[in-house]
Amino acid sequence: MAPFTRLIRLCLLATFLVAGTGGAWAVGGDAKAEAPVIAAAVSVAVEGGKTRFSVTMSRSVLAQVQLMEGPDRVIVDLPEVSFRLPPEHGRKPEGLIASYRYGLFAPGRSRVVMELAQPAVVSALHVDQNQPGGAALLVIELSRVDREHFRRAAAESAGPPKAPPEPVVVKDVRDSRPVIVIDPGHGGIDPGAAALSGVYEKDLILSFAQLLKRKLDGDGRYRVLMTREQDVFISLGDRVKFARMAKADLFISIHADSISGAQDVRGLTVYTGSERASDAESARLADRENRADSLAGVESGDGADDVMDILQDLTLRETRTFSHGFASRLVGELDSVARLNKNPRREAGFRVLRAHDVPSVLVELGYLSSRQDLDLITSDEWRGKMVSSMTVAIDRFFATRLARQGAAAVLP
Ligand SMILES: [Zn+2]
Repeated sequence: MAPFTRLIRLCLLATFLVAGTGGAWAVGGDAKAEAPVIAAAVSVAVEGGKTRFSVTMSRSVLAQVQLMEGPDRVIVDLPEVSFRLPPEHGRKPEGLIASYRYGLFAPGRSRVVMELAQPAVVSALHVDQNQPGGAALLVIELSRVDREHFRRAAAESAGPPKAPPEPVVVKDVRDSRPVIVIDPGHGGIDPGAAALSGVYEKDLILSFAQLLKRKLDGDGRYRVLMTREQDVFISLGDRVKFARMAKADLFISIHADSISGAQDVRGLTVYTGSERASDAESARLADRENRADSLAGVESGDGADDVMDILQDLTLRETRTFSHGFASRLVGELDSVARLNKNPRREAGFRVLRAHDVPSVLVELGYLSSRQDLDLITSDEWRGKMVSSMTVAIDRFFATRLARQGAAAVLP
């Protein structure tokens, strides 16, 4: 451990417990071992207006807690922790906690996000180290408060921005191959949709995206990059930034949808970005996908990227033409291998499709709420056919673009 880190840990030993407000640090003893910390159990106890959330860890850790409003959340930042909990954990409301999720937030950092059923503050935070086998119990006690109190506590607990570092992508100037960015949605703390079997969207689509990358890498014609290659959270803004910094020629975001109470709704859909959704269902889906950042405890204000000058606006129009062209080609190519949605080409305001200069599509492979779709999405045979057809659509897209560029180059 670096001396600086050790110093911080020693200082924090003295800063033990802050009650009544949102922001607080809890620390437990010496963190000498380098083995990964394992969270093996979570329990939630409800008593009057208090809810106690306890996590059994293989050893003590530093925990930082903050509150966020809209939706009301308690965010617990931890060093990297391997959560070995049953998949159904955190989905049902208990006391002040409406639901909670956990996972890797950035390399070396894990996070627990509790969505609150009512405004509440952290009234106690401590680590009990007297657990069997050297384990430690991280205890976070929440107490119900009124809206005004919550708002003040959330403002006090707001720390420095906690977004993961920006991706750094440097395009090799000698490499003139088209750049394709594949974006497996969700990850880490944000699991995405859950299938009835307990499998998460984030895991299914990461393995699909990896297969697509291998296929596209196959003949070396493209430079293929992924926004994430492991189970880690990446904000929507960072995904767009990644594609722009990589000077991507095509951005493909991969997802899988879910709809409750409609197991017969199924099929693949290809979306392009638009200020106006093509239909109510697309608007609902984009809203849900756009909540990914807030669910992970990252505030994603609509920044400067949304205020476009006239040149960017013109570029956007041209880019959208390419996006539409590719989306239609993709649907045409996938028609014979995938089960398509009854309306497979749709538009909506997905945050991840906002790069004004990168043709972008979002593919919802199917519905995890449909048994048949889930069987397809998890089948090696279907995945193999899908990535082959997607590669054909990509090849044709670039063949047309290069032909057009070539024609433009020979014009006087
Ligand atoms: Zn998704």
